[in-house]
Amino acid sequence: MKKIAVLLALSFLLLTAYKPFKTLFLSAQNKSVYGLVIHGGAGYIKNLPPEKEKKYREKLNEALEAGYVVLEKGGKAEDAVVAAITILEDSPLFNAGKGSVLNHLGQVEMDASIMRGYDLNAGAVAGVHHVKNPILAAKAVMEKSKHVMLSCGGADQYAKEMGLDVMPQEYFILPRRTEQLKKIQEKNNKNTENSSLKKHGTVGCVALDKQGNIAAGTSTGGLMNKKFGRIGDSPIIGAGTYANNSTSGISCTGTGEYFIRTLAAHTVSDLMEFQKADLQTAMKKALEKVENLGGDGGMIGMDKNGKVFWIFNTEGMFRAMKTSSGEKKIQMYK
Ligand code: ASP
Repeated sequence: MKKIAVLLALSFLLLTAYKPFKTLFLSAQNKSVYGLVIHGGAGYIKNLPPEKEKKYREKLNEALEAGYVVLEKGGKAEDAVVAAITILEDSPLFNAGKGSVLNHLGQVEMDASIMRGYDLNAGAVAGVHHVKNPILAAKAVMEKSKHVMLSCGGADQYAKEMGLDVMPQEYFILPRRTEQLKKIQEKNNKNTENSSLKKHGTVGCVALDKQGNIAAGTSTGGLMNKKFGRIGDSPIIGAGTYANNSTSGISCTGTGEYFIRTLAAHTVSDLMEFQKADLQTAMKKALEKVENLGGDGGMIGMDKNGKVFWIFNTEGMFRAMKTSSGEKKIQMYK
């Protein structure tokens, strides 16, 4: 009997003292709220025709519910993130996967990343041309490789080796995107590679599961008419995506260069960790830094207690959230 008591006391000490165990143990106590928040990009989103608005609402709802079901059943935050994001990637409505914008050469080049907050493990792919769901490739990099980021042909190859679906470029290239590229290139016909449409359609998700673990993910086709080979903030851990169980999870959207230069997603976590800022204050400050450099866009966040916040400095941002406390919202305008 005595031996068992000593054993139990020792296991308790180990669980609370060793850092990864500690995070897991502490988070496991925080079981009360779980849920997720998603975005479908920020930009000039204003007075959409009712039919179009309905389509966006329906798709956001589908992605939200798919992620929520995973959490409700006791699944992992990263699985909820992937469940929500793959639906948005498969939809032609958003700038990710199937609906990706085109680079200066008329090709689709996609970026994605995912991070989990309990051990700060992360995975990303950049500049992929063929993987159907870049978020799945990012998750495979996180879970099955020793690396954090794979790029271009190597990342496509890795996805294939992992048994993920790969598609020809034609699958991704939508006539609507070809038309948009043509227009923008005609308009700027000299210095074309630097111009972009003021519309960011990147998708992202932050989830908190029943175990109190946070995960965040982001997936994008990048910026329309971007220079070939350009990589944005979405696959860069700390810029477009970040998750830490002791603070929050963040996914960003906007002109990626500014989010890279300010390490926007990581800034939120740092402000919470070192300055004890709350999620809202930290996100406001991080976006302020982006804005001060001339950047536009937005971010979604969820803290370790299940509090959700979103912020953007554009006309609108496709966004939705649902938590186990009964809150559910789907919004797009200011
Ligand atoms: N942040 C993405 C990028 O710069 C674009 C977006 O959010 O629409 O690649």
